[in-house]
Amino acid sequence: MNNVTDTAAIQASLKSTLKASVEANIDNQIDGQIEFKEQSKMSVFSHPEFDNHEQLTFFCDEETGLKAIIAVHNTNLGPALGGCRMWHYAGDEEALRDVLRLSRGMTYKSALANLKLGGGKSVIIGDPRKHKSEALLEAMGRCLERTGGQYIAAEDSGTSVSDLQVMSRFTDNVAGVTERTGIDGLPCNGDPSPATAYGCFIGLQAAVKHRLGRDDLNGLKVAIQGVGNVGYRLARHLRQAGAELYVTDIHEEQVRLAVTELGARAVSQEEILGLDVDVLAPCALGAVLNDFSIPQIKARVIAGAANNQLALARHDRMLQQRGILYAPDYVVNAGGIIDIYYERIGHEHTPQDYKQVRAHIETIADTLQEIFRRADDSGRPTGEIANELAEERFMKK
Ligand code: NAD
Repeated sequence: MNNVTDTAAIQASLKSTLKASVEANIDNQIDGQIEFKEQSKMSVFSHPEFDNHEQLTFFCDEETGLKAIIAVHNTNLGPALGGCRMWHYAGDEEALRDVLRLSRGMTYKSALANLKLGGGKSVIIGDPRKHKSEALLEAMGRCLERTGGQYIAAEDSGTSVSDLQVMSRFTDNVAGVTERTGIDGLPCNGDPSPATAYGCFIGLQAAVKHRLGRDDLNGLKVAIQGVGNVGYRLARHLRQAGAELYVTDIHEEQVRLAVTELGARAVSQEEILGLDVDVLAPCALGAVLNDFSIPQIKARVIAGAANNQLALARHDRMLQQRGILYAPDYVVNAGGIIDIYYERIGHEHTPQDYKQVRAHIETIADTLQEIFRRADDSGRPTGEIANELAEERFMKK
């Protein structure tokens, strides 16, 4: 297994990565897609997403086929915590871009969640349905051990709690793997969704208070796109608070559950973003706030769990110009990482411990109030202000 951490070694590793890209392109040319020029430009220190990452480590394990990258963006506030994603990337360049972008995002998220954590992420290059094996996950566990605790992995797209448990045979540098009681009092295998949903509920309340001047949610109309692990639990909180729910999902069973259990109204996937409601809660997928959707949105508040809701940074300002209050997604959906942090620092999962976790999650409202206030005072969009506030917290003075 190769572990590459210094500049010279990264360059050597990139040579072989580049060679692999060239080889991959021979296939691409056979398929009629000529991407050689694009991929031969692969760089690290001058990569558009590099953003002064502290450490970038490339791992390769011939025996198990593991190819992984661990990125540590910033550890000023503490060790870097972030998901370990397994994905069938089109090429090494795509994997590198993803890990750099996501790891930077974790620095901002943890800083705004008031956690003593930095930002990092890891990616395993491969199709989780075809290439995942116990041996490969064990090899990843050994890679995590080599980072010396600078990076702690949690589950992400393409990996599960049980995969992380396999990695944990070789390292303590994994989080979100303890069988315990969730913050909702139900048994939980480490899944942070209940905490994420509670944080979304708190964030949504804060945004409603700011924009609509309401303390209660009684009769408030909320459209939820995606009633999966987080969206369904958010819907339950909202229902208990008296809100009127409109839901959609690509899985009919999920919609049926929300209709029968929570009295929600089912709407089509096409209708959900443009519904005449008070709040839109995107809880399914990214890039839903874009040139096409923003002009249709009638909700005055957007607050949901989905990551990377803005298709492009400029959509932040477009929402502001339309008078829509956007609660930045990475602030709203931080409940999960707060929960994992407390597991990591050894909470015993007693009712008293959960009180503390819930109280910490409730600080999401304070952070949003600060962002909304600064946005109002300066006339700038909320996403831009959130990034600025995060930088004030994690950058060294
Ligand atoms: P999930 O897969 O359990 O739920 C997503 C739901 O959205 C699914 O039911 C899916 O069928 C539905 N969906 C997918 N595409 C859709 C579409 N086009 N229209 C309508 N519905 C669609 O995922 P989750 O854990 O609930 O996470 C939801 C979002 O929140 C994701 O973007 C995730 O990255 C983000 N997030 C989750 C957590 C967490 O703790 N689970 C933490 C932070 C961020």
